Amino acid sequence: MSEEDSSPLRGAHGHSAVAVAVSVQPHRRGLDVRAAPAEVAAATMPEKGPLVDRYGRIHDDLRISVTDRCNLRCVYCMPEVGMTFLPRSELLTYEEIARVARVARDLGVRSIRLTGGEPLVRKDLTSLVSQLCAMGFDDLALTTNGMLLAPLAQKLADAGLKRVNVSCDSLRAERFESIRRRGDLATVLSSMDAAEAAGLIPLKVNVVLLRGNNDDEILDFASFARETGRIVRFIEFMPLDAQGQWDRTQLISGQEVFERISKVWPLEAVGDTGGPAPAERFRFVDGSGEIGMISSVTQPFCGTCNRLRLTADGSFRNCLFSDDEYTVREVIRGGGTDAEIARLLRRAVWAKFPGHAINEPGFLAPARSMSMIGG
Ligand code: SAM
Repeated sequence: MSEEDSSPLRGAHGHSAVAVAVSVQPHRRGLDVRAAPAEVAAATMPEKGPLVDRYGRIHDDLRISVTDRCNLRCVYCMPEVGMTFLPRSELLTYEEIARVARVARDLGVRSIRLTGGEPLVRKDLTSLVSQLCAMGFDDLALTTNGMLLAPLAQKLADAGLKRVNVSCDSLRAERFESIRRRGDLATVLSSMDAAEAAGLIPLKVNVVLLRGNNDDEILDFASFARETGRIVRFIEFMPLDAQGQWDRTQLISGQEVFERISKVWPLEAVGDTGGPAPAERFRFVDGSGEIGMISSVTQPFCGTCNRLRLTADGSFRNCLFSDDEYTVREVIRGGGTDAEIARLLRRAVWAKFPGHAINEPGFLAPARSMSMIGG
């Protein structure tokens, strides 16, 4: 990272009238770009072309968090009580989000995923979906806990949403409630039916496994994938919980999931996945469905990462695990131009570390947790 980037408060251009807060943390998180080969460290950020970082990774996937609030309190994500949330005035409005998305599209972003917090707790999300749909992205998807989805599924589909991922960590009602602390399994399962009936397919189901808690349901989830045709994705527990209680011994690796399932139902890798994707995809050899492993901790996929994030309070982040934030809200509210937004986005991508360094000595979890960044 250059000297220039380490200034705590500077304009998107060195001479810009718009003050832009760029919060760049010391090099204690992510792999240090200064350790990179000289030609990488010395490279100059391009002013044209796609959003590329110093390692040649092209970024065309934008995750947009619309709120940090959630109606659940999953044990691996938030404490049961005591969360504080952003004041309304700090959230980007839908018009502001749409403006950033348009600029991102013009820089080559092809795929948008709406997330949070819980995106459906924010009112009138369909109006944002309509605005984004009109911009012609190849993919427009939503990640949700499913509690509010059923009555909205058709409206979201009509507004142009293409797909949903529904999080569901247990297929047993009581356990579901103990992991998620609020909400109920029946509502989430019926939201999956409603989403499919509305054409929001293929439907993916996100499962975070915790050792000694729900890992005895691995085969149940595999069976669920086989019976329903829904793509179950097993996500490794990541050091992104607001409580800061992540512990590697609780994590179930993708490899372990693969071994446990394939003993019962042989699996084979799905060959060409059509570009970078966090999930390693496997199909059942007998043809009955598909599962995925998101092994962010044990098999990081940083080398092909094409993702960037916009937080609900209007900062670009180039990695879940980097604390560096590029505050586009101040550019927008300070009267900045689209060119200034674009330049800030380029800078955010350019500064990306080669990897998240969870497995490096001295790794510290990021200051903002998953629900605050947007998962
Ligand atoms: N509220 C929505 C939901 O539940 O899907 C969207 C936001 S949530 C933060 C996005 C995904 O992140 C969910 O699938 C959730 O299970 C996952 N997640 C949250 N905290 C996590 C953690 N510490 N490790 C791994 N996955 C996590």
